[in-house]
Amino acid sequence: MKTIGLIGGMTWQSTLEYYRIINETIGRKLGGSHSAKILMISVDFGEIEKLQEEGNWDKLSMAMTEAARNLEKAGAGFIVICTNTMHKTADDVQENTHIPLLHITDATAAVIQSKGFKKIGLLGTIFTMEQDFYKERLVNKYGLDVIVPGREDRQTIHRLIQEELCCGDFRNAPKEHFIRVINKLAHDGAEAVILGCTEIPLLIKQEDVKVPLLDTTRIHAEAAAEFSLK
Ligand code: GLU
Repeated sequence: MKTIGLIGGMTWQSTLEYYRIINETIGRKLGGSHSAKILMISVDFGEIEKLQEEGNWDKLSMAMTEAARNLEKAGAGFIVICTNTMHKTADDVQENTHIPLLHITDATAAVIQSKGFKKIGLLGTIFTMEQDFYKERLVNKYGLDVIVPGREDRQTIHRLIQEELCCGDFRNAPKEHFIRVINKLAHDGAEAVILGCTEIPLLIKQEDVKVPLLDTTRIHAEAAAEFSLK
């Protein structure tokens, strides 16, 4: 079994889910008391969020690369960045390490392809919904048609993620708002909706909506467990 190198803490609430799902998947696959071999570097999300807001992606890339290299040095067999947004730095991380990086978009696209979906909705931070690193990979590498919410909804979703979900506050985050935006994407033709922010699945569950949801936390964590056994 390969040791999984997690870069976590973005946020710790969703990293807990990664840890749980990876171990549950290994337990299911190997049976008995088996569990995953994991190394983790958990960052201070307050520092990361500030650099995101400042647009200081060079510094963020350096931080992710340093974490990945330390995991590699410590014996990790591959790297998992436990969040969607920070995959903006994934190419830099991959170029500067000697072990594979298991990309969250590739893991998600594999599930989309296995289900035969062609047109999908994408929810996440404003970086994930508006910039190229995520959407373009789905479009160019996998030939998918990706739609995102309108401008105002993108801003509200981003604000709710940063100010409430990423602070671990799930009481005030208006679930109805997320549900309304998801249903709107379905109405606009999305055959499934990517919950492309690892905190959204802590708030929104499949039973809340009819359109199939793609929970990137679960998908990425299960892919990590499976890859560790390859
Ligand atoms: N964990 C979130 C994601 O999956 C967002 C937090 C962040 O802004 O990095 O994108």
